[in-house]
Amino acid sequence: MAVPFADLQLQYQTIKDEVDAAIAAVIRDSAFIRGPYVEAFERDFANAAGVKHCVSCANGTDALYLAMAALKVRPGDEVITTAHSWISTSAMITHAGANVVFCDTDGTTFTIDPAAVEAAITPRTVGIVPVHLYGQPADMEAIMAIARKHGLWVIEDCAQAHLAQFKGQPIGTFGNAATYSFYPGKNLGAMGDAGAVVTDDAALAEHIAMLARHGGLVKHQHQIEGINSRLDGMQAAILSAKLRHLTAWTRARQHAAVFYDTALNQIEDVEVPQVAPGRTHVYHLYTIRHPRREALAAYLKANGVQTAINYPTALPLLPAYARLKHRPEHFPKAYRDQNRILSLPLFAEITNDQQQLVVDLIRSF
Ligand SMILES: *Cc1c(COP(=O)(O)O)cnc(C)c1O
Repeated sequence: MAVPFADLQLQYQTIKDEVDAAIAAVIRDSAFIRGPYVEAFERDFANAAGVKHCVSCANGTDALYLAMAALKVRPGDEVITTAHSWISTSAMITHAGANVVFCDTDGTTFTIDPAAVEAAITPRTVGIVPVHLYGQPADMEAIMAIARKHGLWVIEDCAQAHLAQFKGQPIGTFGNAATYSFYPGKNLGAMGDAGAVVTDDAALAEHIAMLARHGGLVKHQHQIEGINSRLDGMQAAILSAKLRHLTAWTRARQHAAVFYDTALNQIEDVEVPQVAPGRTHVYHLYTIRHPRREALAAYLKANGVQTAINYPTALPLLPAYARLKHRPEHFPKAYRDQNRILSLPLFAEITNDQQQLVVDLIRSF
């Protein structure tokens, strides 16, 4: 591939000494499960995210489950989320014990439409899970206003949006808690699975930590029935090493996005990502809309450019939600996007030459 979708090996080469030293230290200390490296990363990440508490866990999916389980959702409770996300968001609402209620996106930013949220509220609604999809914050001002008005909790799914901001305030600091994924391909990625819940609420953080560690923070003292969802020491040490580069990597992603924006804006049929005023996009994904998406993706692939479709089917239309009997016309914006979106290669180390090749190919297409 002349231009891969992402290049984790290249990223590793730029910080090889730091990552190798981090792994060696964990092995030297046999600090495999919890221990000083995990505690250090929790402190480091809480600082970076602008929150008081970070509870690490096994992955971003568990983070969503743990946060909602700690908020004690009950059978019959309704939790509102977006029609356009990765399935973890909605599946964990179900696994935490609530009924998932989907809302359409706003048609421009790929994030949940606050007007649709307001319209979906019933007496059984208990919470909202907005997703800062592709790295652009959802409209947290409108969402928090709705939550306050109706007495709902909010959990922000920040899996794709490390360091993004809404009107200068870090995402993940608006709701009751926020969840992160450190899956290898995310903007801050481990070398395996990893995740975290962050919050300013000390009691909630403690409850989440208990749930993640067999229901107790002291060995053999199980206060509740929990699960086993731990971040391991090696991933924590790798993440602490990589976290020191996250601001620079985020800037590099934003520069690469400006390069694409400027060049692709000139090309008919290409709709570049729209960023709403006051929102700082961190470009986990650079996703365009194109009326002949399949043909364009095939043409790019034939010419050595890897692309991705995130996601080919809106969540409510997946077989997993057949029980809800949703139809495309219930989610016209998410449905329109599912057939037009295409994510282009974008990573911190991408070169201008690689980006120019992508642009030239799209133009010749
Ligand atoms: C990646 C992702 C998750 C899940 O994270 P894992 O670490 O893969 O479990 C949840 N929500 C969104 C929006 C994601 O992109």
